[in-house]
Amino acid sequence: MFDSSKQALIDALSTRHGKAHQLWQRAYNARKEFSGDKIYLRGLVEFSNICAKDCYYCGIRKSNTLVQRYKLEREQVLAAAAEADRRKLGSITLQSGEVCSGEITDFVEDIIKTIKKDFPDLRVVLSCGEQSKETYKTWLKAGANRYLLKIETSNQHLYAKLHPDDNNHSLKHRINCLHTLGELGYQLGSGIMVGLPWQTSAIIAEDILFFKNINIDMCGIGPFVEHAETPLYNNKEELLSYDERLVLTLNTIACIRLSMPDVNIAAATSLDALNPKGKELAVSAGANVIMINLTPGEERPNYALYQRPQESLDKDILSELQKYGETIAYGQGGDSKHFQNKQK
Ligand code: SAH
Repeated sequence: MFDSSKQALIDALSTRHGKAHQLWQRAYNARKEFSGDKIYLRGLVEFSNICAKDCYYCGIRKSNTLVQRYKLEREQVLAAAAEADRRKLGSITLQSGEVCSGEITDFVEDIIKTIKKDFPDLRVVLSCGEQSKETYKTWLKAGANRYLLKIETSNQHLYAKLHPDDNNHSLKHRINCLHTLGELGYQLGSGIMVGLPWQTSAIIAEDILFFKNINIDMCGIGPFVEHAETPLYNNKEELLSYDERLVLTLNTIACIRLSMPDVNIAAATSLDALNPKGKELAVSAGANVIMINLTPGEERPNYALYQRPQESLDKDILSELQKYGETIAYGQGGDSKHFQNKQK
């Protein structure tokens, strides 16, 4: 049994070298035992970078005037869904900056309905930030299956250092949204960034306990990567090195896998920014979901949440994983086992 008390989590998060490899191996084995032997795929469409929020870490924050703003046409999003279907990715994630309006509610609703009609086997995952209960209901009714709302940190003190101090950036409201999403019946996803300034192992351990407590079905874990056009860039001297951030991210993935062995864990795209093999390493530490970017090429540079490296080819990642003996779950929706077990 894995000890997921706070102190044991802190100790596990702090392991390095050989001990860390043992932790990852144990998590990898737990993934195989409790979440199946396949790696699931998610097509990712970043359909808009327009955002009403001003998070200090994020490259598409409202105050970054250097970003060229875009919102894809309905047909562009549907073309991406058709590609996800053709490539047998099994599911598609619609992600955007955060905008709350009747127009965006209707736009997303129409897209979900059309995807469900044209590609009934494709699972739809949403990642469009904090919305009203009514909007979440509308999208669920339209056919959305899952919602990813990363908490980023569950620590009030750290949250306040990463966001402006106003009603538009409230940890309490974000937590309420997670409760609402879970109650409505979405497969519930959350996550954190690892390697933030001022973030300690104790804070990450509390985040993991927070995830257990709100009973998430899936999560996305990625390292924080600084972006020159954001306020947090001023703190870059205080950050862990890329290598240290990678190890801490892998330890976090492994601890989540061992604490909640049947949840889906996605290797966040920011892993590749630290190491070209970031996502493969995440799989070796317990992750079981890989995102495939389907955002039209001309808009990708405009969805720069963090400084992106040369984008490695998704196809290579999959053949790499197959070389390591992984089986890719082509054509499978990949519902979280945790969610399935909850329904029993
Ligand atoms: N607006 C939506 C989702 C879009 S952002 C929402 O708020 O839920 C998607 C994720 O990118 C964020 O949840 C955050 O975890 C991550 N992200 C943003 N800036 C980042 C950075 N500088 N480094 C690493 N990840 C970042």
